[in-house]
Amino acid sequence: MRLGAGPQVRPADASAQDDVRRANLSSVLRLLHFHGPATRSDLVASTGFNRSTVGSLTSELTKLGLVRERPGVVGGKGRPSNLVEPVSTGAHVLAFDVTPSSVGAARVGLGGYMLQVRRRLHSTSSHDVPAVVQLIATLATEMQARAATGSVCLGIVVSVMGSVRQPDGLVRRSPPLGWHEVPLADLLREATGHKYPVAVGNDGDLGAVAEYLRGAARGTQDVLYVRGEVGVGGGVVVDGELLKGAGGYAGEVGHIVVKPGGRTCSCGARGCWEAEVGDGAIIRAVGRDPRESEIEDVLSDVAIGNRRAISGVRKTGEWVGLGLASLVNIFNPRIVVLGGTLGALYPTMEPTLASSFSRTLGPMREQAMIVRGELGSDAQLVGASEVAFADVLEDPAGTLEARTAQADEHEDHPLRVLHQAG
Ligand SMILES: [Zn+2]
Repeated sequence: MRLGAGPQVRPADASAQDDVRRANLSSVLRLLHFHGPATRSDLVASTGFNRSTVGSLTSELTKLGLVRERPGVVGGKGRPSNLVEPVSTGAHVLAFDVTPSSVGAARVGLGGYMLQVRRRLHSTSSHDVPAVVQLIATLATEMQARAATGSVCLGIVVSVMGSVRQPDGLVRRSPPLGWHEVPLADLLREATGHKYPVAVGNDGDLGAVAEYLRGAARGTQDVLYVRGEVGVGGGVVVDGELLKGAGGYAGEVGHIVVKPGGRTCSCGARGCWEAEVGDGAIIRAVGRDPRESEIEDVLSDVAIGNRRAISGVRKTGEWVGLGLASLVNIFNPRIVVLGGTLGALYPTMEPTLASSFSRTLGPMREQAMIVRGELGSDAQLVGASEVAFADVLEDPAGTLEARTAQADEHEDHPLRVLHQAG
């Protein structure tokens, strides 16, 4: 997946000088977006640009409404350096996370500030695609209505558990949602009146992006992220780039076969990793009936120290370790981040997971550290929001111009209506 929701912005008449200017604006905005407010002196130190260049870049970003400056604190000798901060109400994105039970939604401001978070249960079932599309569109309208006046909506990005074709956002198949060949991005563009760029991503990929940029894998260039829930998905960051694959399906780790002839998986094959470590398998492993119990029951049993639950979770840990070892052999990550149920249960399954991981992996094991995700169930929303911010971070002025033009084309402009009325 390209880390951006809109069409690539590349003016035809761009000169080399424009390219440099764009890259410099991008560097400053990126620093502020990911690291928060900084003084002009900090920006000089981090970018290597001189004071006057930093001054002119922050002025331009201020004019665009993306940053603001306020007087810094006096410390030591000389004049205080102005503090530059991203304006969370200057530009925002809408992020969604579709799961079999609910749709999570967030309005996220520049700087990564979660301005509004919602989660709504499906009114019918996740299999009812028109109802899910309508729910997302309704949430988008509600959140958009709460956005600050003048804040530019940069786009909508939706996370789904399933194989998503890039760049068109066609969901090829999602066994947990019961979807097959669903053109989700097109349906959402239609449902939201073509007002916003729309992109759809795989939940594993977006979780990997989130933990890499803002979570447990910050500062690491090679990351394997695994989200275990009803389905098991994954995402891989190699040398700072999300691994996409030919069709955008790389990282579908839930369907590697770990137990030939094993239990039938939701995909129809037998012995997939998902069939051994997904929520259903964990519920069975603790001796509960998946038709009557939910994964939350297992989490609370574990929390109160129920021995049967702990032992079942540890048994599952062996399968988790075995699958992770195969993946680490292929991708050689520095860090493995566990999200979803696997993240929540990691402290309990750690002993058995670690020993089966080490046994299977052999001498390679020292190179990969296994950790629990820091972002928990927000990871997909955070990842989706970062994908939606990618364009403005790459080309602040060009992206804002393109977005304003698209919004003007599809929204009733108050002035235009006035003219018609007169
Ligand atoms: Zn499978």
